[in-house]
Amino acid sequence: MLTYLPGKSMVGTGRVPAQWHNLGESLARLDLALRGFFHPHGRRAIPWDLTRCVELRPHTDHIADPTARKNIEAVLDHMASTVLPQLKTARHQVIHADANPDNVLIDPNHPDRIAGIIDFGDMVFAPLITDLAIATILESVLSEEGLQNLCALVSGFDSVLPLEEQEIDLLYDLILARRAITAVIIAWRKNMTPDQPAYLLDREKPTWDAIAHMMSLGRAEVSDRLRSACRFPPYVPKNGQEETAEEIKDLAKQRRKVLGYHLSLFYKQPLHIERGRGPWLHDARGRRYLDAYNNVPVTGHCHPHVVRAIQRQTAALNINTRYLYKGVVEYADRLTSLFPKDLNACVFVNSGSEANDIAWRMAQFTTGGRGALVLDHGYHGITQATADLTPSDWFGDPPLHVRTTTAPDPYRGPHRQGELELAERYAEDLDRAIDELVRHDMKPAAFMVDTVFTSSGIPEVPAGYLAAARSLIRNVGGLFIADEVQAGFGRCGTHMWGYLAHGVAPDIVTLGKPVGSGYPLGVVITRRKILDDFVKASGFFSTFGGNPVACAAGMAVLDVIEGEDLLSNAEETGEFLRQAIRELMPRHALIGDVRGRGLMIGVELVRDRSSLEPAAEEATRMLDLMREEGVLIGRTGPLRNVLKIRPPLVFRRDHAEILLEALDRSLGKL
Ligand code: PMP
Repeated sequence: MLTYLPGKSMVGTGRVPAQWHNLGESLARLDLALRGFFHPHGRRAIPWDLTRCVELRPHTDHIADPTARKNIEAVLDHMASTVLPQLKTARHQVIHADANPDNVLIDPNHPDRIAGIIDFGDMVFAPLITDLAIATILESVLSEEGLQNLCALVSGFDSVLPLEEQEIDLLYDLILARRAITAVIIAWRKNMTPDQPAYLLDREKPTWDAIAHMMSLGRAEVSDRLRSACRFPPYVPKNGQEETAEEIKDLAKQRRKVLGYHLSLFYKQPLHIERGRGPWLHDARGRRYLDAYNNVPVTGHCHPHVVRAIQRQTAALNINTRYLYKGVVEYADRLTSLFPKDLNACVFVNSGSEANDIAWRMAQFTTGGRGALVLDHGYHGITQATADLTPSDWFGDPPLHVRTTTAPDPYRGPHRQGELELAERYAEDLDRAIDELVRHDMKPAAFMVDTVFTSSGIPEVPAGYLAAARSLIRNVGGLFIADEVQAGFGRCGTHMWGYLAHGVAPDIVTLGKPVGSGYPLGVVITRRKILDDFVKASGFFSTFGGNPVACAAGMAVLDVIEGEDLLSNAEETGEFLRQAIRELMPRHALIGDVRGRGLMIGVELVRDRSSLEPAAEEATRMLDLMREEGVLIGRTGPLRNVLKIRPPLVFRRDHAEILLEALDRSLGKL
């Protein structure tokens, strides 16, 4: 159809990354144009077709050098056993299949620009990714420069036609296989007919050099570079290529260098996590861990429905929250409909701390008070205002406007199981704290409480305590703030929100952690009047809080919680776990108490069941022993002796059984 295209062959030109990037883009545009095109001859047999490379296996005999032959055979065998089966499920279409620099024309006035691609004689119906692998054929990866050009080609392609993760991880083997094909064909033809075209003979040495060099670089190194060029997350080695303890140490050292010495990491030998799926986490060594710790990914790690919602919304729009956007309004409507009628308005922020910070400001504004009440080991956040409300992390003098009250803990608190009117006894202490504020001329603005009492050691809170506490704070004109950052979204199993399990009606509810199942989002929900008056006076807005992507994530999280009935699962699996752990008590004297609600479980470890001597060091050891067993749990409580089992809500019976066995074995080792 075309006899002439203006331009100059790419061979022998500058070969800078910009040119390769451009070639990647052009090839991707060509492939996009070929989408949907088919012709029966698309499946005709040509020896260069990467999917047929094993058919060349018998011809490796033509390679004289035994080491070289072995290398080629290893490449072809790996293709047969591992790569070709994966390629079968990769995207297929008719591709150009020969976009090497001989067939690429550049614009002589702008050498970086691709003017055309010629020679459609090898077109074939094949996996899309092989088109890209073939385009690298003559570009040697022998040097760092070559590797940069390769990265530029791949990222150029990816910028026009986004690669799938499976595809980018196949590239290394496909590039290698393409060169192996070239090597076999050259050797074969040379043996059959001595007169070979120069273009083939010229390729002989660079091909062998490139194969040797690719092999010495290795799959992990090349794949990591290609991934990074396209902003894919780092390469996860498969096939048992293990990360060494030394490599983990190095990463931890680099982290300290930039993030500071004291920023905490779990475990003495930190975990280097690369992937998550459901309740499973995979480390960089390919080892999997059962996650019984993380509550943020409430729908399980990387839930496909949530991931897709985030991806799709990110691709459409993400913007400052001071524009109208339907998805935001729809999410706010759906979320507030899950609360009682009077809690009918919300504002969005980006974290639990921010939600508590705003709730606290609202409470002060609404009541005119400045005094705060919190549990004596409560945790509410990292901003100045919420750090003041966080006795568990206080250092120096306690803030003057905050008073603490004893957490209601019938196991080891001042009033214990069996005593009468436990709820009232603990509420009396709140009354005392309120009095103290008042005596110091500090009008109480609010009592803020985590409704599963996580940092207090997940105690079995006596029925009626929160109702009594609410009355006390309301009687002095203060508000009751339910911090649902831990309890919210079905953690307790029986109810969507923790305060419901206590039968109380809060004035303000704050949400964080699980709201976006990993996407940052915090929410303050309250009565419309409280919200309106505060926003009007303060001019409150949050640039990112509740942006379209965050709300898309939030919406998808609600879909999953409802669609997969995660509340019932939390209730059933949580109850099963508590019961089964109690059954371990006769064999393991360390277990003092087992408690909690839904999938928030506390296991208090003691050295002596009558003196209740706390077993804090044992709890620390348990975390490590469980990790060795492949199960991740946490620790909490003022005495640091309560095991915290708080998995994603997709943690089911069979996962619970794995955890139980690990717990049993680990306690045995102690
Ligand atoms: N409140 C509670 C009860 C929490 O547990 C936390 C976090 N541990 C926060 C608030 C603060 O949330 P964030 O870390 O998202 O700021």
